[in-house]
Amino acid sequence: MKAVYPGSFDPITNGHLDIIKRTIKLAGSVTVAVLNNPSKNSLFTVDERVELIKKVTRDMPNVKVESFKGLLVDFMKSQGADVIIRGFRTISDYEYELQMAHINEHLNENVETIFMVAKNGYSYLSSSIVKEIAKFGGSIDDFVPYEVEYTLKQKLNLLK
Ligand code: ADP
Repeated sequence: MKAVYPGSFDPITNGHLDIIKRTIKLAGSVTVAVLNNPSKNSLFTVDERVELIKKVTRDMPNVKVESFKGLLVDFMKSQGADVIIRGFRTISDYEYELQMAHINEHLNENVETIFMVAKNGYSYLSSSIVKEIAKFGGSIDDFVPYEVEYTLKQKLNLLK
């Protein structure tokens, strides 16, 4: 199986990193695919998001980081990949995730979506929450690696 873990990663959190590590255990390797979607209001550019993921996964074996535009199934094809990995946190993820899995199955029936249940301590963790806490000066060091914390504070002009 060749796994792709797609998402916005704006920015990458410890919850995402946990899914990446568990995917490597399961599949041996993973391609993290950062969605380049200009209509989504991202804080970080796609290149910044890719760079951050590369930095925080540099000691992990078999992690490739790419950005993609357009349909995920087309990107999967270009990579020769057949499995989409998605994380599942709470019931509020359910509707959207199910819709995406069905759509991707419709677009390419050879592509399988595998959901990984978020680790207990990460089920409330999202990039949006991290950005919100950081904006108001709260501590985010339990939620993201140091490089992400630093870059986020820099982006928000919070460094003294
Ligand atoms: P998207 O905009 O595609 O949802 P995200 O970066 O928010 O991009 O999430 C990418 C994937 O990672 C999604 O499947 C999401 O459910 C999952 N995910 C996000 N945060 C966590 C977390 N804390 N634990 C496990 N999975 C997560």
